[in-house]
Amino acid sequence: MDKVKKAQDLVREALAQGRSPCLTCSFQAEDVVVLHLLLQERPDLPVLFLDTGYHFPEVYAYRDALQKRLGFRLVNLLPDLSREEQERLYGRLYETDPGRCCAIRKVDPLFRALTAYDTWFTGLRREQSPTRAALEAVEEAVLPSGHRLKKVSPLYDWTLKEVFAYLAVQDLPYLPLYEEGYLSIGCAPCTAKPLDPSDPRSGRWAGKGKLECGIHLHGKEE
Ligand code: SF4
Repeated sequence: MDKVKKAQDLVREALAQGRSPCLTCSFQAEDVVVLHLLLQERPDLPVLFLDTGYHFPEVYAYRDALQKRLGFRLVNLLPDLSREEQERLYGRLYETDPGRCCAIRKVDPLFRALTAYDTWFTGLRREQSPTRAALEAVEEAVLPSGHRLKKVSPLYDWTLKEVFAYLAVQDLPYLPLYEEGYLSIGCAPCTAKPLDPSDPRSGRWAGKGKLECGIHLHGKEE
């Protein structure tokens, strides 16, 4: 079956079954494909962005330009501590203890927000990393609070080439950082160009032995 049609069917089926859906979106290319698929069906869907305060300026500019163009419901999730407060208290945690930094700035705000939803759409793909190779289209995520929700990744079996082909066909812009050689884009201090071209996430937390920020380590992925 055509992969776009398969992804559309997955989106429709999950929306029909769920009562309170959301999308987490870091505005990487695959997230924008899922966003576009979802907006065809549910224009008022909450689009959750983890606003860590450490993103590249290009990410904030692209987020705002795309929001203006597509008109989606952007929800910026903020940590309890501002970037300045955190650095005053703990210094550069992204250098000394990135696990704690991700916990404060990504995991805690996201898991708090997700308790309001029963269906969580993501742009995850198997090809992105060895840690995602066994990803299924639909999984169950269990938060530390015990809240359970259906986690849906409509592009689970897509290649990066297919992602960019979709954006081209739909005339959707992508983050300009891709043009500079970045393949997986997160917070600026923890993102470099990939060390291993066959592993797009090998530029994330380079040299710190970390491949995930902790928000995708629940349910079957554990
Ligand atoms: S990716 Fe880096 S800067 Fe962003 S929250 Fe995690 S450790 Fe901190």
